[in-house]
Amino acid sequence: MRLTYKYRLKPTKAQQRQLELTLELCCWVYNETLATRKQAYEQRGASLNYYDTAKLLPEWKAAQPELKQVHSQVLQDVQRRVELAFQAFFRRVKQGEKEVGYPRFKGFGRYDSLTFPQYGDAVRLHDRMLLISKIGEVKVVLHRPLKGEIKTVIVQRQLGKWYACFSVEIEPRPLPVSSERVGIDLGLKTFATLSNGEHIKRQRWMKRDAQDIARLERKKSKLRIGSLQRQQTVLALRHAYARATQRRTNFAHQQSHQLINRYGLLVFEDLDIQQMQANGQKVINRNIADVAWGQFVQYVTYKAAEAGRELVQINPRGTTQSCSGCGKRVPKDLSVRVHDCQHCGLKIDRDLNAAINILTRGITSIGATDRDP
Ligand SMILES: [Zn+2]
Repeated sequence: MRLTYKYRLKPTKAQQRQLELTLELCCWVYNETLATRKQAYEQRGASLNYYDTAKLLPEWKAAQPELKQVHSQVLQDVQRRVELAFQAFFRRVKQGEKEVGYPRFKGFGRYDSLTFPQYGDAVRLHDRMLLISKIGEVKVVLHRPLKGEIKTVIVQRQLGKWYACFSVEIEPRPLPVSSERVGIDLGLKTFATLSNGEHIKRQRWMKRDAQDIARLERKKSKLRIGSLQRQQTVLALRHAYARATQRRTNFAHQQSHQLINRYGLLVFEDLDIQQMQANGQKVINRNIADVAWGQFVQYVTYKAAEAGRELVQINPRGTTQSCSGCGKRVPKDLSVRVHDCQHCGLKIDRDLNAAINILTRGITSIGATDRDP
């Protein structure tokens, strides 16, 4: 089974320039490949395929030696992407779709990822560094352990930041089958409420760590840059972040482990985890719970994949306001802790009501029958 791990890259200024240049060169090859295929068709009625264009690469490199700064496998992948664009185009034409867009040229800055199709050759992970051919050793923020055999690596630029996406092959280690199912509501008062009424308590250190960090950040901002006091505060801050990360990681491991062992189907609200990761350090300051949720769901997700458990993420809209007993809308603001339905008389904890709705929505979305364990 394939899984993707995404990590932040921290290239130096020089590496960043080289990466930018590489993307622009790939963009050029993309457009040139597209133009060549288009011309061949318009002038000679010939359909070129991937192999026809791959043969042209040495010629292009001779005419434009800059291209030698890009690993050949990466350039081949660029041409493969053109091939895929054409295949998608022809498939849609064949299916009789109207107004099918012909593959388009990419504008400056619109080409933003490099694919290394073979791990180990042009790209290799070594001790928190990603060795990228023609770029150098780039620092990787390994915020969680990478497991499995790495197959391909994509280096990606996103909103000015750089990331490495590792596609890995993992051996599923199935657990004994479980027909138990659970809906999980993530909350501020209780960390998680399960649809069977159980809770995962909010940890006291979550608030304490957030307060420590906020206090140190405030202190730092008032101190003069370069002063000894500021340096000491920066160091203290770094420790506070590390402590918070460590506690959060342990917590996520333990809790996800227990859930995965027990349940065969797990349903969560869809949190925008990617977003949280991108802003990881800033969010921790505002609300450590956000980060803790994100990490927790992420751990459950990869452990579920490893163990062959089913995991569903549903659109959380309305899960708090609908009655889990009769489906009618029971509006309530954040301060109302009890779900009290005037329609069917159901009176239960607000988060429990949401958790049951989450489970129901998850079961519906996968089309499973409502069999009792
Ligand atoms: Zn009701």
